[in-house]
Amino acid sequence: MSACNESLSGPSGAHKSDPAARTSDITSVHRTAYVNLNRNENPFPLPAVVMSAALEAFKEHNVYPEEDSGSLRSAAARAYGVSVEQVIAGNGSSEILGLIYQAYLTAGDAVAMLSPGFGFNHKLAAANGAHLLEVQWADHNALPTAQRVRQTAGGAKFIVLANPNNPTGTFVPIVEIERLVAETDQLVVLDEAYVDFAPDSGLRLVDRYQNLLLLRTFSKSYAAAGLRIGFGVGDPQVISRLRSIQNLFNMNVIGQSVGVSIFEHRDAYRGRIECILQERERTTLAPSALGFHVMPSHANFVLARVPGRYDGRWWQRALQARNVYVATFPEQGLEHFVRISIGTAEQMDTCLSVVSDIAGAAT
Ligand SMILES: *Cc1c(COP(=O)(O)O)cnc(C)c1O
Repeated sequence: MSACNESLSGPSGAHKSDPAARTSDITSVHRTAYVNLNRNENPFPLPAVVMSAALEAFKEHNVYPEEDSGSLRSAAARAYGVSVEQVIAGNGSSEILGLIYQAYLTAGDAVAMLSPGFGFNHKLAAANGAHLLEVQWADHNALPTAQRVRQTAGGAKFIVLANPNNPTGTFVPIVEIERLVAETDQLVVLDEAYVDFAPDSGLRLVDRYQNLLLLRTFSKSYAAAGLRIGFGVGDPQVISRLRSIQNLFNMNVIGQSVGVSIFEHRDAYRGRIECILQERERTTLAPSALGFHVMPSHANFVLARVPGRYDGRWWQRALQARNVYVATFPEQGLEHFVRISIGTAEQMDTCLSVVSDIAGAAT
């Protein structure tokens, strides 16, 4: 078994629980093996050294976590080359995204996002009574011009964009991000959830622009989605504004401790990330040969336009009937796309052979 098959769920390379049933009936037993490629999760186990930190931290179950996540924020500051005042730690980066909405908006205000983008922003905007202004993004490998952004996002309290973007997987050169940030006074939230699968990052811009806030997470490249560890990195005043409204004990002892350990052992992830990049390549080439149009991805998933007369939902259901779960999107323009997360080599073998079977039967 190659290192790229060392998944958490064992050599079958498939998860045992039905993701649809996970929320509806968590007590039922499912015998079938499911291949979950719908949430961009990382299939690999934590490095052993990080796992021991988690188990050790569990022994602290009876005490409150460190207030303000000081140790974790210091570790992040060292790793990112910034001061601890420039870092906020969150229960996942989505907690921090939520804090930005709370801190910067009152009901009736507007927020802007590059669209298609991270769907969670729709929910946050609605929850905060804000209008979501969507700057349509046609060429996903370049940002719209500043003028185009201003036309739509002019009245927004802040602008959110992800790079690499979800669900497209595309990556915009950092010089273009810098141009956008330099040309506006609005806060720009640069969500770098997938940065470890990409060629570059916007970290170096943080010290140059007070209106840039970077989001990072350990959910994707560091296989810690279930532990909820994320960061915001930016101007001390912005960070302090977010921290002032943050729940006192937002993170738990395991998340804090694993977070510190991951920063200390980032090298241990290199092989796992290589595996994902290899499988991403394969998951780009094989469906392309079947008539899919797969967008070149810089993340741990690919967005593919399905061939033939059926839409993305049809493909999603056909795959699901064969126990392979992928994502589709309700947004206009994405009806004919499916998003496939990159799993282990074995999971991708299963996925690709099912895709090929369905393509053979559907055409
Ligand atoms: C997965 C994802 C996140 C991660 O959220 P966490 O709360 O850190 O798990 C953030 N932004 C985008 C665009 C994502 O796809």
